[in-house]
Amino acid sequence: MFKALVIVCILLGYVYDFATTWLDDSWEKKHALPESVRDIYDEKEYRRWKQYSAEKKKLRLISGVINLAVLLGMFLFDGFAALSRLLPAGEYANALLLMAVWMAIAALLDLPFSYCNQMKIEEKYGFNRSTKKTFFLDALKNFLISTGLFCGLIAVAIACHRAFGSAFFLVVYAALAVFMLAVNTFSLTFMKIFNKFEPLPEGSLRDRLTAMFTQNGYQLKNIWVMNASKRTTKANAFCAGLGKFKEIVLYDNLVNGFDEDEIIAVFAHELTHFKHNDTRHMTLLNLLQFLPVVLLLLWVATDPACLAQMGFDGLNFGMVFIVLFQAVLFPVMTLIQIPMSAFSRMQERRADAYPASAGLGDALISALKKLARLNFANLNPHPLSVKLSYDHPPIAERIRLIRQKQST
Ligand SMILES: [Zn+2]
Repeated sequence: MFKALVIVCILLGYVYDFATTWLDDSWEKKHALPESVRDIYDEKEYRRWKQYSAEKKKLRLISGVINLAVLLGMFLFDGFAALSRLLPAGEYANALLLMAVWMAIAALLDLPFSYCNQMKIEEKYGFNRSTKKTFFLDALKNFLISTGLFCGLIAVAIACHRAFGSAFFLVVYAALAVFMLAVNTFSLTFMKIFNKFEPLPEGSLRDRLTAMFTQNGYQLKNIWVMNASKRTTKANAFCAGLGKFKEIVLYDNLVNGFDEDEIIAVFAHELTHFKHNDTRHMTLLNLLQFLPVVLLLLWVATDPACLAQMGFDGLNFGMVFIVLFQAVLFPVMTLIQIPMSAFSRMQERRADAYPASAGLGDALISALKKLARLNFANLNPHPLSVKLSYDHPPIAERIRLIRQKQST
């Protein structure tokens, strides 16, 4: 019964993913581009964009089907239990090694696809700057960090189960909360493992950014330029830091390819996110959305009858929990994503309104268009797929709202 439920969950998640991909395609064929975004790509570029997104989708579908087959196979044929019997028997050793082996299998399965995505497709369309060496080093670092984190989480769960008995799930949830807050707070530290950060040189851009933050009651601790061009031609910018002390990170592609007003407008947008505590609210909502899933899965993972039914006999509950969490998370997340993404789009519209009313509307529109072109954004998504999963409103809607704000 539980096994069937988990399998249905996994299947539904993939069907949903394929269905939304098809949705965008069918809309794109029948509806012309909105007037306000027609100048982003010229005819030739737009054809290239279609080809690019078709190739990306194909790759995602193939990798999805393979992942699905492996995951289903592991569930249907009790693969996890079989794997566990091959490993040392100690409670910690078995669970942690099993996790590490499973993460290694998942990473190896993903490697050819992420290689193809970055070094073939992104390369073909001129976005890739990464060398083979950087690509494989990144993959290795990613694997080590994520395996370390998940194994740490399992070790905490086992230790808590020994110490607190059945009330341990509260401690595990708290650990998960601390873990997510830490990832959020130290995201900059994590990024520094992968990238080089250099302070933005003295000059007018630095002065204007500092002045804008000071006017709004914040102090800028650092303004960093990140060497994103080592890997990609795409551009981005974000703020980090708790309380009054903020750090700004600009991709070097942004500093080199955008004029000063555009960069200021992008940061007026980011500043508004800060003022409304948007990131913190999003983290809290993320934590809340995990609560029912975590409780349900912990209940399943610690009930011997459920474990036996799912073919997880003799497996440590910590391991079962993480495997179920990964398998069930995707379908559950797609459902929770609907209200979450609506909330996020509201935050984005609010963040666009400030620069628009502060005389930076034109600069913001021009920056958004450049970003869309650089990031090869979908200019014409299906309204339903926007409602289901887009965390930003489509660019045509953003431009319309900015113009509206400018005229009031
Ligand atoms: Zn934003």
